[in-house]
Amino acid sequence: MGKKDLKFNSKTIHGGQEPDAGYGAVIPPIYQTSTYAQSTPGGHKGYAYSRSANPTRTALENSIASIENGSYGLAFASGIAAIDAVIKLLNPGDEVISTNDLYGGSYRIFRCIFEKYGITFHFIEMQNIAKIKENINSNTKLIWVETPTNPMMNVIDIKAVSMLAKKHNILLAVDNTFATPYLQRPLELGADIVMHSATKYLGGHSDVVVGALVVKDKHLADQLYFIQNASGAVCGPMDSFLTLRGIKTLHVRMQRHCENGKAIAEYLANHPKIDMVYWPGFETHPNHDVAKNQMDDFGGMISFVPNGSSYKEAIKIVEKLKIFTLAESLGGVESLVGHPASMTHASIPKENRKKIGVVDALIRLSVGIEDVSDLIADLEQAIG
Ligand SMILES: *Cc1c(COP(=O)(O)O)cnc(C)c1O
Repeated sequence: MGKKDLKFNSKTIHGGQEPDAGYGAVIPPIYQTSTYAQSTPGGHKGYAYSRSANPTRTALENSIASIENGSYGLAFASGIAAIDAVIKLLNPGDEVISTNDLYGGSYRIFRCIFEKYGITFHFIEMQNIAKIKENINSNTKLIWVETPTNPMMNVIDIKAVSMLAKKHNILLAVDNTFATPYLQRPLELGADIVMHSATKYLGGHSDVVVGALVVKDKHLADQLYFIQNASGAVCGPMDSFLTLRGIKTLHVRMQRHCENGKAIAEYLANHPKIDMVYWPGFETHPNHDVAKNQMDDFGGMISFVPNGSSYKEAIKIVEKLKIFTLAESLGGVESLVGHPASMTHASIPKENRKKIGVVDALIRLSVGIEDVSDLIADLEQAIG
């Protein structure tokens, strides 16, 4: 049986991995080197300079490609560096359609960096396919999907968007950071590019900042590799090693994230002091059917609003939580709490935030894999 045929829970451990060529090390060594000896000019063993390629990074890139069911993986210095590489496929005059409920840093690089190079971005409600259609014109070259969205937990129908994109010959990229390939595999649903902030669930231990892209098409892989090498925001060997180690337990961690997430979403929904809970696993979630179709479970990310949308109450809760640490980021084994309006989404203008539901009282949880009764007790003492 080839490694390509393995089930997901085996691919996380074995996918794309071979014992090291040097001494047969089962775990890829940390090749902490910038350069490689050559026997004659150009006479090297596949590695010449570590911006272009590094064996530890190759092992990570092969692993991520394997778990996303793609053919080519590319590892970057951060999730944002991976996004940067994708947008550099475009030219001045090109247009991009993206969601109005987007990771704040993605919004920032689109608006504040790439708009000045003549690329136009449309931020729309992508749950509604008709709205995407309305924004397509002959300059549209890329559709950028994030699903579930951050922090409103909207779910976008990847397959429906991909059919539309294919019809108009537009590239489709999906930020799969929140779901991870444990829950959803965008390439199987017709996406051309999968992007990850591996800083989050793939790494899983809040100890690295890493990004990744995965594609199936060789030509697209070559273009992205050219940009990665030319622009230089590569993932270092130590971070590659740590991320690879994280991926080996992705499936067991995600299973627990989902179980704990469900229990906490239900606890919050039944709490008299909580007005709104956003989690795609609820049957009442507006995109629940799409979520059920394209995801294998619903994940551990939850947003909620306390009674009366009280900003003061929200701040009191995030400050009182003890096991949930008030911090940026998500997807680690430890539970985190965030206040999007002042933290992750502060770079989005207040008016735009409000329009999509990111009110000042919104709280976001990244539910970790601790004992769920401890997590609920923590919420109980903080919400009161
Ligand atoms: C964190 C995050 C990013 C950015 O990734 P970095 O690794 O922080 O650069 C992009 N998209 C989503 C959904 C994220 O959560």
